[in-house]
Amino acid sequence: SDTQFKALPSNQPTADEIRDNILKSPGFGQYFTDHMAHVRWTIDAEWHGHQVRPYGPLTLDPAASVLHYGQEIFEGIKAYRHADGTVWTFRPEKNAERFRRSARRLALPELSDEDFIGSLKALLAQDHAWVPTPSSDADECSLYLRPFMIASEAFLGVRPAHEVDYYVIASPAAAYFKGGIEPVSIWLSSHYKRAAPGGTGFAKCGGNYAASLAAQKEAAANGCGQVAFLDAAESKWIEELGGMNLFFVFKDGRLVTPRLTDTILEGVTRNSVLTLAEDEGLTPEERPISIDEWREGAASGEITEVFACGTAAVITPVGELVSEDERIRLTAGGNNDVAKRLRTKLLDLQYGRSDDKYGWLT
Ligand code: PMP
Repeated sequence: SDTQFKALPSNQPTADEIRDNILKSPGFGQYFTDHMAHVRWTIDAEWHGHQVRPYGPLTLDPAASVLHYGQEIFEGIKAYRHADGTVWTFRPEKNAERFRRSARRLALPELSDEDFIGSLKALLAQDHAWVPTPSSDADECSLYLRPFMIASEAFLGVRPAHEVDYYVIASPAAAYFKGGIEPVSIWLSSHYKRAAPGGTGFAKCGGNYAASLAAQKEAAANGCGQVAFLDAAESKWIEELGGMNLFFVFKDGRLVTPRLTDTILEGVTRNSVLTLAEDEGLTPEERPISIDEWREGAASGEITEVFACGTAAVITPVGELVSEDERIRLTAGGNNDVAKRLRTKLLDLQYGRSDDKYGWLT
């Protein structure tokens, strides 16, 4: 099949002046570029019709199964502009692999690395002017890319759809948390669970996020920006946040993160932090960590830092864990040195300010 993306350029692209104004203060996820990539899948013809076409509303049959049964997956990845003007993505093959894992769990067709990375390149070829130029090393602007796949077949039977569409849209982004590396407060959901064994926690599907919103609302009402979820069976083990993985820094140099199970999303940032940590002389450990260990380690000073990580927010220190009956704050540390060091290392790689020694940039 023809996997070349055919370009159908918009005849009404955003005026340079308007775009430049948006790029000065893009916020997050509010503005979209002029084009989107699209590939269609049908059970008979597989993947076909690769194109980059003007950004705009989709026409979906009201019976499209995604609207009823939520057969949908997505990804999140950023494009960074380097000082020489070139545009780079960070480990897109990891996102391609995760997208295939998600597809298998949601009984959607798998997209090849070639099509996944090809779609990002094809969209960026049209919309590269939308990748913001950092004004300083502290300016964490980027173009956020959002690949997603939906079941578009008009059919109300409950079975995997025979017609599916894959798209990539793009949105210029400033830093995710306005406070930069100010520690955030996290809400511990005592009632809601994000994922159960055998479920979809490890997949990046819309349903996981829909299910997390009630807890997110509770968090906001309690002054917290994110939710931490515990395991479904025992309410004992720390899993992750609604949109980020968690790390614990111990006084003796151990860096602990919950080991991967089918209830945790494997973050590309998590994976990268584990590699960078070793270079920093830390000892990474992937193992179960309980809420009791967090509480006791925070009180005794054994745990010196807690941080969250993900593509959108990079690495963000966690200041406190808040629940209905307690507030867990770290007694030791407070300067978040390890989080800051790892954050700078990661950003320097992504923005091309240090040598790409791991070959992580495309
Ligand atoms: N966990 C969840 C539930 C997420 O949505 C994300 C964001 N994709 C992450 C962790 C972090 O993943 P990544 O580092 O690949 O952005």
